[in-house]
Amino acid sequence: MIDFELPEQIVAAQKETHELAVKHMRPVARDYDEREHEKPWDYINLIWEDVKKEVAAQLQALEQTDAERAEAKKKSLARAGGQPMILTAVLSEERAWGDAGLNLCNPGPRLGGAAVNAVGTPEQKRRFFKPFTEGTPKWGAMAITEANAGSDTAAITASAVRDGDSWVLNGEKIFVTSGKMACQESDGWVVVWATIDKSAGRAGIKSFVVEKGTPGMTVTKLENKLGIRASDTATVVFEDCRIPIDNILGSPEVQQRGTTKGFKGVMATFDATRPGIAASAIGIGRAALEFVKEKLAEKGIEVRYGISPYQMTAVEKEIHNMEANLKAARLLTWRACCMLDRRERNSLEASMAKAKAGFAVTNICQKAVELMGPLGYSREYLLEKWMRDCKINDIFEGTGQINMLIVARNVLGFGRDKLK
Ligand SMILES: Cc1cc2nc3c(=O)[nH]c(=O)nc-3n(C[C@H](O)[C@H](O)[C@H](O)COP(=O)(O)OP(=O)(O)OC[C@H]3O[C@@H](n4cnc5c(N)ncnc54)[C@H](O)[C@@H]3O)c2cc1C
Repeated sequence: MIDFELPEQIVAAQKETHELAVKHMRPVARDYDEREHEKPWDYINLIWEDVKKEVAAQLQALEQTDAERAEAKKKSLARAGGQPMILTAVLSEERAWGDAGLNLCNPGPRLGGAAVNAVGTPEQKRRFFKPFTEGTPKWGAMAITEANAGSDTAAITASAVRDGDSWVLNGEKIFVTSGKMACQESDGWVVVWATIDKSAGRAGIKSFVVEKGTPGMTVTKLENKLGIRASDTATVVFEDCRIPIDNILGSPEVQQRGTTKGFKGVMATFDATRPGIAASAIGIGRAALEFVKEKLAEKGIEVRYGISPYQMTAVEKEIHNMEANLKAARLLTWRACCMLDRRERNSLEASMAKAKAGFAVTNICQKAVELMGPLGYSREYLLEKWMRDCKINDIFEGTGQINMLIVARNVLGFGRDKLK
């Protein structure tokens, strides 16, 4: 039987997070949008307490036998990597409903952690996650993008050269989310993608963990952005940056040219994170839709359901369309999450969810501003901010076009050489 109901534990956590969003996110959302690069420390410290527990549970799960893990899963929904992805997505939607910029300020291993989870050895997971179970807030980040390598991640030129017991990194990474917090402001780290053998193409690309304070790593710029302005987006430069030999994630072995095994490992990071991004897009879209319905209700206009299309007003038709698209995006997202929780390959579903949610929510927010007119354009309300905030979900971790390309390749069974 197909069951679209969320389990009780998830519904309870959803309620709790919604209250957090109402009390601690919405009231300061405008403030941190106006004061770009200021950090919402009250919010961060609050979230940090949960992050510590979540990472500790994840580390504990690493020590379990398969039988213990199966038993724990029955009781607590926990998957091998810690919090189940479906729960992550549900909570991410609630926090993005509260404020997407603040949500991106959350401390924790985050995108860098997804890379460690996807390719790291159990020993590396223990080592790099342990600091997130104690002390003051810390951040993990992931640096792939370069000036000439964004969508085409295989074009990266940052290099890592083996020198005795070290790897020596050189290159410049741009648009690193939480780059400043991870590399400069906390005892965090950043996962850096670099090539160890340019002639091997994709197979030569590996990921490396660079810890805060490593000589040769410098944060050189913070972006001023259209939306999600509470989140720091940094340029990080690596100049003869020497890291321990075992900070490479996965195997240092380079497969033959044309084989992409190592690269596939790092790409698996996105299978785990794209549904989370889709969920946060949905949170923003939901906020915009609720706002429109509230304002219409204040004018005595209630949206009717279950009536013939011939009886619908133009506004009702718009709202029905927006709601249908939001729900479709949510169902795709939950499906991609559930597959990940069952440890099934979900590259196709993760890209479908991300492409659908990014596109749908960009349209929903733009339509909401259009329907509200001046109320949608004024800074008195958050709607104009949501229109600015939502677009990022269609850009980072694979643009809408790139995710559609991945969907097409998967559905048609074409390799990247046939469908570019
Ligand atoms: C706020 C923010 C935070 C970010 N955080 C991170 C981070 O934490 N870590 C990180 O590594 N990067 C991060 N990025 C970078 C982001 O992932 C890239 O910007 C994104 O992947 C697009 O790459 P690009 O900017 O080089 O654009 P391009 O690749 O140059 O793309 C430009 C346009 O061309 C389209 N396009 C490109 N190739 C194709 C194709 N084959 N078919 C059809 N259309 C195509 C794209 O869809 C896009 O519309 C962030 C970016 C922003 C704005």
